[in-house]
Amino acid sequence: MELTDIESDLTSVLYTEDQIQAKIAEVARRVEDDYADRDVLLVGVLKGAVMVMADFARELKLPATMDWMAVSSYGSGTQSSGVVRILKDLDSDLHGRHVIIVEDIIDSGLTLSWLLANLKSRGAASVEIFALLRKPEAAKVEVDVKYAGFEIPNEFVVGYGLDYAEKYRNLRGIGVLAPHVYS
Ligand code: IMP
Ligand code: MG
Repeated sequence: MELTDIESDLTSVLYTEDQIQAKIAEVARRVEDDYADRDVLLVGVLKGAVMVMADFARELKLPATMDWMAVSSYGSGTQSSGVVRILKDLDSDLHGRHVIIVEDIIDSGLTLSWLLANLKSRGAASVEIFALLRKPEAAKVEVDVKYAGFEIPNEFVVGYGLDYAEKYRNLRGIGVLAPHVYS
């Protein structure tokens, strides 16, 4: 689905499909330089990272494997508490692996900082993060995101994997959700 198909649900378009693909290619080139001669394990966080993973993995000119995790953070309403529960764990053994966590967005950073520590404790040789979007104003914890895509303002965005109540994940681009949709 195109952003223009649901124009009235958005206040603005942040990134078109072309802009997203260009950014993903840029990050892929960096990763190729950093991981030359190493096998990479891409760990996607369900469900938001599905689109980023699909495009990033195919753009990457490296022998990469993929695995998936589903997590939910405890907390009241929209406030993330930093306590994370694993809903679906990895199938892979991480010992000696070079892991890149692939995420759609980093907001408070609580989910990713927990995930980073968790995966490191499993004996991975290295663990880095690629987050397509980052909301810098919302950062509560210092998380070292080695590969960050776009810095976005502190607004609720949807599309390209990102949802509001499970909707809008199948948009090709990313836009700011209009307040009338959630109020
Ligand atoms: P945090 O970094 O622990 O706060 O959690 C980030 C998660 O919250 C992401 O993986 C998304 O699932 C969700 N999230 C944060 N901001 C947005 C947004 O603007 N739109 C859609 N989902 C979001
Ligand atoms: Mg997510």
